Amino acid sequence: MAWMSSGTSNADLISQLWRHGLITEEKVRDAFLKVDRAHYAPTAPYQDSPQSIGHAATISAPHMHAAAIEKLLPFILPSSSQDATATGAREAPRVLDIGSGSGYLTHVIAELVGPKGTVVGVEHIPQLQELGIANMRKSAEGRAFLESGRVKFRVGDGRKGWVEPDEDLRELEQGEVERRGKGWDAIHVGASAVTLHKELVDQLRAPGRMFIPVDDEDDGGAMFGGRGGQHVWAVDKDAEGNVTKKKLFAVRYVPLTDGPKS
Ligand code: SAH
Repeated sequence: MAWMSSGTSNADLISQLWRHGLITEEKVRDAFLKVDRAHYAPTAPYQDSPQSIGHAATISAPHMHAAAIEKLLPFILPSSSQDATATGAREAPRVLDIGSGSGYLTHVIAELVGPKGTVVGVEHIPQLQELGIANMRKSAEGRAFLESGRVKFRVGDGRKGWVEPDEDLRELEQGEVERRGKGWDAIHVGASAVTLHKELVDQLRAPGRMFIPVDDEDDGGAMFGGRGGQHVWAVDKDAEGNVTKKKLFAVRYVPLTDGPKS
């Protein structure tokens, strides 16, 4: 599926991803159409490949971003108002994007969470946090997301997840926070973890879903130029709090690492 969907413009790239079945949901397609990848990828933005963004980080390939959003979609979209009072329904989705890097996926998620939703991007490299903000400021819509607080970029070790300071919880969602707790409806991890970090699973709401690449335990590090292989896992927490995990597909992400020494 990789490498097949390159385009000559943002709209062309997204229509290629659609034609190849990598994007299947109209809402996902529309969100990707609203975000110009050229604001986030410094070279060849409409090519279906990862690109370096400095600091040993990459913006992931468009087909990987598409796969992540398609998988997390049910937990990113706000529920319609008539079922918002039902147990577990979310009026104001809260999404965590760990290893936000360029900020591209953070922006796409912001398009989907709706006006009451929140997306927090966490980076452990301060320059990349600043890059995410600077990239998002390139569009009027991105600037509005930053100003309204729908999107926040934070510096921290994403392996511990992220807990927003109380004063930063948006007034609009107070009722829902009281009803369903803090935590996250969806967690996207954009770098490979050595394990399914307990803090991340704990911070998932019930129900909630995490998309996380994890290093394989069993291939002896032979694949991918000496480093071990990786698979994406979907970790689901149901409304009762039961956790299940499912291995999805092989990937190659940069690792979640220790942050820069200060
Ligand atoms: N989603 C980003 C992916 C960037 S690459 C994008 O598509 O643009 C992975 C990112 O994870 C890098 O920016 C890297 O700095 C960040 N990262 C690595 N280890 C981390 C950690 N422990 N905590 C937070 N971010 C981390």
